[in-house]
Amino acid sequence: MLTGLRTLAKKRLGTLTDASAARDRILAYLKLFVGEVIEGEELQVVGGIQEFARRIRELRVEFGYNVATGVSREELKPDQYALESIEPDTEAAEKWRTANRIRKQGGGSRDRVLELLKAYVERPVTGEQIAYVAGAREAARRIRELRREYGWRIVTKQTGRPDLPSGTYILESLDQLAEHDRHIPDDVYDGVLERDGNRCRKCGWSVESRSSAAKRQFLEVHHIIYHHEGGKNELSNLVTLCNVHHDEVHRLKIAGKDLLVWLKE
Ligand SMILES: [Zn+2]
Ligand SMILES: [Zn+2]
Repeated sequence: MLTGLRTLAKKRLGTLTDASAARDRILAYLKLFVGEVIEGEELQVVGGIQEFARRIRELRVEFGYNVATGVSREELKPDQYALESIEPDTEAAEKWRTANRIRKQGGGSRDRVLELLKAYVERPVTGEQIAYVAGAREAARRIRELRREYGWRIVTKQTGRPDLPSGTYILESLDQLAEHDRHIPDDVYDGVLERDGNRCRKCGWSVESRSSAAKRQFLEVHHIIYHHEGGKNELSNLVTLCNVHHDEVHRLKIAGKDLLVWLKE
């Protein structure tokens, strides 16, 4: 397997004689196969070094090349890579630089993830960038904690934003959810959105009806009987509301049966 790979990689390398530095050779190699799966072993051979992972990081952080891994492309195995487009993305490069700064400043991994998401509120951050600031093993757990325990409105393709590519995260607001709307288990939260067809139960707003001119809107899950008054974290006690109507229902302090009536008004 490896022998075959090496023969292949070396043959491919033959076309890259004018690219001397390891990073340049890796980039030139990736560019030969835009969108295709490349084994880490191939890049080791092409780069001529064991530390090719550092070169990949430089290509992302310093130059903004979108090199995907299994974090954003599910079909990729560990140690497989794909260059998504031939040109670097300057906005992505800036995000990677921010991620790099946050990673270096230390502190807890949860705070680092939150800082990255806040730096790009309402804009997408990739799973790779989150894994970069938090550590690959910590990332998913930290996102879950931020959503459930701290009430940060972090959405993904599976949680409220079916229009997003998979492996992408957006912090939709700098306001945390009210304390009593937190601690809803992820599967229940997602189940409520699904049951309600990803629409506000009051006005029917959904992500598809978002227009760029309109005020920023997003979906949230709200308790019919407040949690601290004995309301359970169950589908039957939860409804999907857009943030406008969520704010309204809290301002008017409508709960229980009154809430169900209000939804139909
Ligand atoms: Zn609404
Ligand atoms: Zn609420």
